[in-house]
Amino acid sequence: MKLKIGYLYPDLMNIYADRGNVECLRRRCEWRGIAVDVRAITVGVTFAPDELDIILLGGGQDRQQRAASEDLQAATGDSVRGAVEAGAVLLGICGGYQLLGSAYIDADGTELIGLGLLDLETWHPGFAAARCIGNIAVDWEGGILVGFENHGGRTYPGPTAAPLGRVLAGGGNNAEDGTEGSVLDRVFGTYLHGSLLPKNPHFADHLLGLAVERREAGYELEPLDDAAEWAAHRAALALLGIRQGE
Ligand code: GLN
Repeated sequence: MKLKIGYLYPDLMNIYADRGNVECLRRRCEWRGIAVDVRAITVGVTFAPDELDIILLGGGQDRQQRAASEDLQAATGDSVRGAVEAGAVLLGICGGYQLLGSAYIDADGTELIGLGLLDLETWHPGFAAARCIGNIAVDWEGGILVGFENHGGRTYPGPTAAPLGRVLAGGGNNAEDGTEGSVLDRVFGTYLHGSLLPKNPHFADHLLGLAVERREAGYELEPLDDAAEWAAHRAALALLGIRQGE
């Protein structure tokens, strides 16, 4: 088994250790003897629809996000859409998540066009409004995801959007409706920085599971000793006053 991970805009969209998601997936593959190749994809770079198994897009400040948005309207965006249509897994975090929707309207009212892969739109209510900042826990498929959020933008899901999870503590999509993130088939968006995947090994393996299954039907991921990962998960939960067994 061999997987190829595309790391989108490492030079623009990479804050609060989002790069750790790339390293986490790489190591979880290597520990299992799955060969992995990471390709950095930045402005103007294109790739074939079948080339990448997983694409990761981190968060960024509004200025960098604008550059990414412009590039996503050109050939790189077509490559990402082509890969998703061909079955690649895509994970966007925070500013990267916002760019998976139709648009992000920044604090100045400038519209940054997104990929339109998820049915949602994001508005920044202006600098006078409080940002959503802090630790966050989310109920996800009967388990919990932990992370750190820091965003001014409020994301409003459209009628066909499904949230990734429900907020247990923190702001989430818009600090109003209790939803966090969004998912459509193999496209995942979330506000959870952290890094997200190292301390949420169940979610990391969910993404990897989708990717290996696409390459080889019935392929089972070998279980790993995730004692350290779950200890980090529990420590993050404890910061929010939430206690949970493994
Ligand atoms: N521009 C975004 C916001 O503040 C994204 C920030 C981020 O990626 N952390 O809403």
